[in-house]
Order: sequence, then structure tokens, then C-alpha cells
Amino acid sequence: MPEMQTYRGGCHCGRVRYQVAATLDPVLSCNCSICQKRGYLLTFVPRAQFKLLSGEDALTDYQFNKKVVHHLFCANCGISSFGTGTGPDQSEMVSINVRCLDDVDLDALTVTSFDGKSL
Ligand SMILES: [Zn+2]
Repeated sequence: MPEMQTYRGGCHCGRVRYQVAATLDPVLSCNCSICQKRGYLLTFVPRAQFKLLSGEDALTDYQFNKKVVHHLFCANCGISSFGTGTGPDQSEMVSINVRCLDDVDLDALTVTSFDGKSL
């Protein structure tokens, strides 16, 4: 098992900042309608492992389809650095856009394709 590490991340302009404990192996590349357009690389963590440090007032919510996931983005710079939703067992989960984490070598990650389009 890869070790869990604490990362910091956020949007482009810096208003939205967060801290998250996560393992980045693997990360998911999803082909659903929004992931494909936004180019996310995703990992998912329980809500308790995520802490929003700043930018709550800048977060704008976008929802579509079944409206179970909050596709949050910064109202100032438009970057979607994380989202929130519930897992299959109704627990609160946070989706992290790994591209928005500080100091992560994206080329070193194992990316797994996820067929979100078929869900
Ligand atoms: Zn921003």
C-alpha cells in the first residue's frame, strides 16, 4: 500500500486553498461528460481527511444530472480543485483534482481509466 501523505492544493488565483490526506496511487482519469471537459485527474477521500483552509466564499457550485455531486469551482479564476458528494454507503466524500495539488509530479503517477460515462 502506498503511504498516505498530507498535501496542500487549491485553485489558480489562490483564494481556494485546502489540505488533504490522500494516497495518490492510483489516480483516476474519468471519461464522463464533465471530467472529460475539465481534464480532471481524481482521487477520492473521506470528508474527515479534507480541510478547507480558505476560499469558502469564492466557491461556486455546479450540479447536473442526478445532482449528487457538487462540482465546486472558484468564482474568480474558474478552477475546479475539488468537489463534494456522497459515496455508495452515503458517507461524505471529497473528490480531489490531483492536478491542483502543490508539488505533485503528475508524470510519476499511475493513472487508471474510469468509465464514468457508462454509470
Ligand atoms: Zn481561484
